[in-house]
This record gives sequence, structure tokens and C-alpha cells, in this order.
Amino acid sequence: MSATMPQNWFNYIEHKLFQNNKLGQPNPSMRIKFVVTYTSPMGRNSYSRCLVLSGVDEISQTIVNMNQRIQKKSAEAFQRERERSKMSLDVRHRVLERDGRGCKYCGRGSDVVTLHVDHIRPISKGGRTELNNLQTLCADCNLGKSNKW
Ligand SMILES: [Zn+2]
Repeated sequence: MSATMPQNWFNYIEHKLFQNNKLGQPNPSMRIKFVVTYTSPMGRNSYSRCLVLSGVDEISQTIVNMNQRIQKKSAEAFQRERERSKMSLDVRHRVLERDGRGCKYCGRGSDVVTLHVDHIRPISKGGRTELNNLQTLCADCNLGKSNKW
């Protein structure tokens, strides 16, 4: 069935064909074509991927897998948001005090550099906002760290 054919029109034709014995035993088959297209904001690049699924088993298994991936992504996004929200002024203060108000790498203090409270294991990689995963870094060392990774 073409995706552009209205459902009621398809049903009407199918009904007529059965009524007039033009179709024998129903021989249902399913085929789903997924097309995903991405176009960059300025429209310079465009990518397209196509996935064709046929048969009830393949279609249902693919939908189950997609649903699991979506739920997992959603749970991970919720977890990241929760960890970001835990970064309070109190937590920052405790980390700065623990680290002697200086950068853990170069030792400079807030009198000469801007100090950041950094996640050792980034939230994006599953890191938590807990004192043992936080460190004081100056802006320079924090930038250097992200360049190295
Ligand atoms: Zn530093």
C-alpha cells in the first residue's frame, strides 16, 4: 500500500476486489520503510538514511528495540539533569574549601585565576555530582583537560 493512498480508499478497493472474487486467499504482507533525514541549520549539509523492514516478526522486533533505546536515552537524560541540579552553591563551596581554594593541577588561587568546580568523570559519561567526583580547577587547566580528552 502506498503511504500516499488514503486508508478509506484502500479499504474500499480491497473490499470490492474481495466482493468480486478478484482476490483469492488473503495473503497479508507488511513492509515498512523508515526514512530519517537531517539537514543542518544553514541547509549546507543533508543526510538521509533509509531502513526497510518486512514481515511481522522483523517489524515488531525492531519497534521493541527502538522503544527500549528511547526509554534508555530518556532515563539517561533524566539522570544527567538530576546530577546537574545537585551542583549547588553549598557543594561548590565544600569542594573549593577541601581543595584549599586552589587549582588541583597548577595550584593557583582565585586571586589570579577563575576557579571552576569540575566533574572528574563528566556527567555526560555517567559521572555523579558527589564530592569524590568533583575537583577544583582553574579555567586554563579545565580547558586544557577538555582538549586532551
Ligand atoms: Zn590550573
